[in-house]
Amino acid sequence: MAEILTINSHSVEATLSEPVSWQQAMKRAIRSGRALCDLLGLDPWAPAPKGIGNPSLAQLAESDFPVFVPWEYAARMRPGDVDDPLLRQVLAVAAERAADPTGMLDPVGDLAAERVPGLLHKYDSRVLLVTTGACAVHCRYCFRRHYPYHTAPRGRENWKPALATIAADQTLDEVILSGGDPLTLADDALAWLVDQLDNLAHIRRIRVHTRVPVVIPQRINDSLLAWVSATHTPLYFVLHFNHERELDTATTAALERLRRAGATLLNQAVLLRGVNDTLEAQRDLCLKLVDHHVLPYYLHQLDLVQGALHFEVSDEHAVDLIESLRSQLPGYAVPKLVREVAGQHSKTPIV
Ligand SMILES: *Cc1c(COP(=O)(O)O)cnc(C)c1O
Ligand code: SF4
Repeated sequence: MAEILTINSHSVEATLSEPVSWQQAMKRAIRSGRALCDLLGLDPWAPAPKGIGNPSLAQLAESDFPVFVPWEYAARMRPGDVDDPLLRQVLAVAAERAADPTGMLDPVGDLAAERVPGLLHKYDSRVLLVTTGACAVHCRYCFRRHYPYHTAPRGRENWKPALATIAADQTLDEVILSGGDPLTLADDALAWLVDQLDNLAHIRRIRVHTRVPVVIPQRINDSLLAWVSATHTPLYFVLHFNHERELDTATTAALERLRRAGATLLNQAVLLRGVNDTLEAQRDLCLKLVDHHVLPYYLHQLDLVQGALHFEVSDEHAVDLIESLRSQLPGYAVPKLVREVAGQHSKTPIV
């Protein structure tokens, strides 16, 4: 932290010295690549590959999918380092606008799997509810960056058709709250939604897929912990850490609060070129996760979404990484390497 604060220390320190609520953290988030570069003392006009490439292309990429980065996350980036693995996940670059004929708008077949608005049913026994389109950070590699979120339900009335479908389908035993990010919703709405599911006898597990605790750890506050501890159905939080440096003190303290409230903690990461595609990066991430009682669940191969292909890592390299991890770490610390193939009945293991 001390080193991170040396450049532009005044603005970072001034911004982060006063504790703010998670809602305020969302409101004050950094919303342009230019502002992020200024903060980190980077020259956004530097040529690729060191910089962000052609600035007007990078700006076009931002207009497709805006930059959105909470200060709490930016403060963990290294000033002056354009290759910082945290920065790379959120800074729009010209490569996003490269012509990529293989890039798709809906690479995982979400739209074909929709049963009622916002309810995706792809696999036996579990359904995924797109609760909101909002996220607390915009990840440049996101497979849902082109999802038509305006059609997703986003409140009690709008969730009712999905809830009725879940209540009537006895083949289901698990509901995944996803998005966007469910933890960008207010706790009264979440408490209501989780309570509806908690009251269904056939629903045996409730899962929350979220990256909010990574970027705005103060989201794990008392009003969230209240509904977590009040839920009888086992609650699984599947977090999304991609790099060991994302686990700072505030974040690991938030994980501990979640765990003490009774949630089981898992992590899914995405394998990203230039971010976490070395053995060292993967090993450090997995070890730090298990140090904090989070089990690595999945390591995803990139979904080939338009605008993200510069993050792609070959399957051969991915398999090598996993094999090396397996020889160095206990089995529970090694994630399953998978890819999502549209139309398949589960995630597809890569071996
Ligand atoms: C990934 C996904 C799931 C969860 O799959 P698991 O292998 O159980 O983690 C469920 N539904 C949808 C639509 C998904 O994309
Ligand atoms: S938090 Fe998740 S859904 Fe939101 S932009 Fe990042 S990867 Fe996509």
